[in-house]
Amino acid sequence: MMPEPLIALRNVEKSFSHGVSRTFVLRRITLDIAQGEFVSVMGPSGAGKSTLLHILGMHDAAWAGEYDLLGQPVHGLRTKHRQALGRSHDVPLSYRNVPRPERQGLVADTLDRFQIVGKKDLYPSQLSGGQQQLVGVARALIARPKLILADEPTGNLHSSQGREIMELFTKLNAEGTTIVQVTHSDANAAYGTRIIQLRDGWLVDE
Ligand code: ADP
Repeated sequence: MMPEPLIALRNVEKSFSHGVSRTFVLRRITLDIAQGEFVSVMGPSGAGKSTLLHILGMHDAAWAGEYDLLGQPVHGLRTKHRQALGRSHDVPLSYRNVPRPERQGLVADTLDRFQIVGKKDLYPSQLSGGQQQLVGVARALIARPKLILADEPTGNLHSSQGREIMELFTKLNAEGTTIVQVTHSDANAAYGTRIIQLRDGWLVDE
């Protein structure tokens, strides 16, 4: 028997209405993502990639169709509950059952790894775009989530930092973390195990 997919989308659609007209951003997206996949979402600007990622992460609750997350029907939840479910999958480290010394060790290791040790007491606005991006990735890694959703994870980074992140994703993926990344980079996409393409809101051939 096939294991249950982590993510199963059936005819997911997203649109905006302006007066009497309606613009579709995602059209009839039907897609399964198995646990342990490393998927790269590609396509031209405006194709709907970020919108898809927001829906997967439950940061966007206003869409039509069906979305099962580990067999749990997200579409069966009211908008408010979809957002609550999204937040529960994104718990900060301090809410998790990690003892304080271990937590500090984890944070120190991760900051060290990305050479952002000296920056840990700064506010996000005091960091450069690239540094903010590294901190975002570091936070995601510390939380050890089952699923990482990354929108252009290396967009503001130097190529060596970007490569480091891709190598880390590869390692996490080998340890079982499912990853969905949006990328314009063929080199980054090549780290994944599967590429999906969006064009004008439609999923086209893989
Ligand atoms: P991508 O990530 O592939 O560049 P996006 O998911 O960011 O694409 O956007 C897809 C489309 O949705 C774009 O054409 C964008 O203009 C449109 N869009 C996003 N937000 C709105 C909005 N509030 N009203 C109307 N159209 C929107």
